[in-house]
Parts: sequence; C-alpha cells; structure tokens
Amino acid sequence: MLKIAIQKSGRLYEHSLHLLQECGIEINNGNRQLKSVAFNFPVEVYFLRDDDIPQYVYDGVADAGIVGENIVYEKNKEVDVVSKLGFGRCRLSIAVPKNMNYTSVDDLKDLKIATSYTNLLQNFLNKKNVNAEIHEISGSVEIAPGIGLADAICDLVSSGSTLFTNGLKEAEVILQSEAVLISGKNISAENNAILDKLRLRINAVKAAKNNKYIMLNAPNNQLKKIASVLPGMKSPTIVPLAEEGWSSVQSVVNESDFWDIIEKLKSYGAEGILVVPIEKMIL
Ligand code: ATP
Ligand code: ZN
Repeated sequence: MLKIAIQKSGRLYEHSLHLLQECGIEINNGNRQLKSVAFNFPVEVYFLRDDDIPQYVYDGVADAGIVGENIVYEKNKEVDVVSKLGFGRCRLSIAVPKNMNYTSVDDLKDLKIATSYTNLLQNFLNKKNVNAEIHEISGSVEIAPGIGLADAICDLVSSGSTLFTNGLKEAEVILQSEAVLISGKNISAENNAILDKLRLRINAVKAAKNNKYIMLNAPNNQLKKIASVLPGMKSPTIVPLAEEGWSSVQSVVNESDFWDIIEKLKSYGAEGILVVPIEKMIL
C-alpha cells in the first residue's frame, strides 16, 4: 500500500484530490479524516498541512506526497521530485513598497525583509551578495511593511493583486513554483512499483491535457503539406472521403503550437476542422 500525503485543506487540496480521481483513484470522506484508503488502487491518502509533507515523506511516514516546489526547496529535505503536476503555479518574489525607487537587488541592502521562506530568501541574497536582515513571520506577510514591521517582503505571488492592495510591487522573482509529486529515498520496492503505476497515470492525464485531437478534411493534392504540420503520435491517420479527391486527416496536436498549426492548415486548404479534448493519452 502506497501512503501518499496531500494538503488537508487549502489551495492544493482540491487539485490534488482531483488529480488522483483523474488517475482513476477513488477516495472517500475527503478531509474530515486524517487518512483514507482508496477503493480501487493500493493507495492510502494522508491529509496534512503542506509544510509538514516533506518531513513526513523524508521520515518515511508517507511514501510520497503532493506539495508545492516552494515548500520542497524551503524545507530542503532529501526527497525525490518525481513529476511536476501543472497546478498550484505561483512564484516566490521579493516585493517592495510601490513608491520605492527600485532599480536592482542592491537596493535591498540593509533592508528588513519579512518572510516565511527564510532559507530560500537567504540563499538568494547570498547568491546576489546582498546583505539584508531577514525577519521570519509565519503568516500575513504582505501587511508587514504597512504596519512598520519590515521594509520589504518575500512571499508567494500569483496574480499580484494581493501585493497591489497592500501598496507593494514585485521587485525580484526568486523561484517559479508548481505542485510536484515527491517520494522518499527509502521507499520499498513494492511501493515503488505502485508509485511507477501512479506516475504513468499522472503522465497520461497531463499529456491529455496538453494535447487535442484534431480532425479535418483536405483536398488530396494538399495532403503532403498538411501531414507535414501534423506529426501526431506517430504520423497522422489519413482516410479517403466518399467524395472523390478528398481525405479525412486525424492527428494529435500540442496545445502550445495549436493556433499556429490551425492557421497553417487553413492556408493549405483544410476544411471542416474539428478539435476535441483527449481524456487520457498513453505514450
Ligand atoms: P496549510 O494550512 O496546509 O499550511 P497554507 O496556508 O500554508 O496551508 P495555501 O495558501 O493553501 O498554504 O497554499 C498552498 C500552496 O499553494 C503554496 O505552498 C503554493 O505552493 C501554492 N500556491 C499557488 N498559488 C499561490 C498563491 N497565490 N499564494 C500562496 N500559495 C499559492
Ligand atoms: Zn502551509
């Protein structure tokens, strides 16, 4: 049985459970319990505070966990990052008062910076050769400058609206973060095999999200050109239409080049382009 720790409530909770569900793992009872066994996969889920997850995985209390990279690198426990999960995206940034004339990291010299990420901030300052005072606080970091507790802060940012409403502006990005699956170094062979299965499912879910299935009709004399922009998983499927001189082309395209490809396909004479989501994609 693979024991996997996820956040018990907060920003990663829903996404973590949803990911497990998309992997076909059904868990009952949500976060009312400390732990819960899945019905249909040898997994037991532990619901914990995100800050504690690296330690529990390091100690082997849990075999694996889902947590933000920000926490993994701040806690600096020896655990393996198995895969990036594509949610919980944010960045750890230093922010200064809006009206400060900020031009470079050197402007942070001798400032008092409030943060709960003391290790990551200290590493950053060391790397930049800047000497500043780090003031550790555990929550509501963004109000520290406003109440005179600090000159600047180092905290997680996503849209930046929290900074804005607190009269701050982003000055330096220290770390780009997203949720990751981590595992312990001393995981048993049996649990490692379960983790591999889970990883295969996660990759299938992620690949499906990043790709779309595309179907279109094309005149036969344009097929070569059209096929050249639709590599697909191996190569596109091409089948003749009932109408003479036309074929149906089917393939898989990556979200990131999607619109470029569509424009090219149209310019090559493709018609009736249909795009459908993929539920799972096993490579
Ligand atoms: P816990 O009670 O588990 O300690 P928390 O208050 O520390 O929860 P949350 O605010 O729920 O944590 O954030 C959990 C994680 O979500 C963060 O560590 C980070 O990886 C991610 N995250 C994504 N966007 C943001 C954001 N804008 N602000 C804070 N965290 C974010
Ligand atoms: Zn936390």
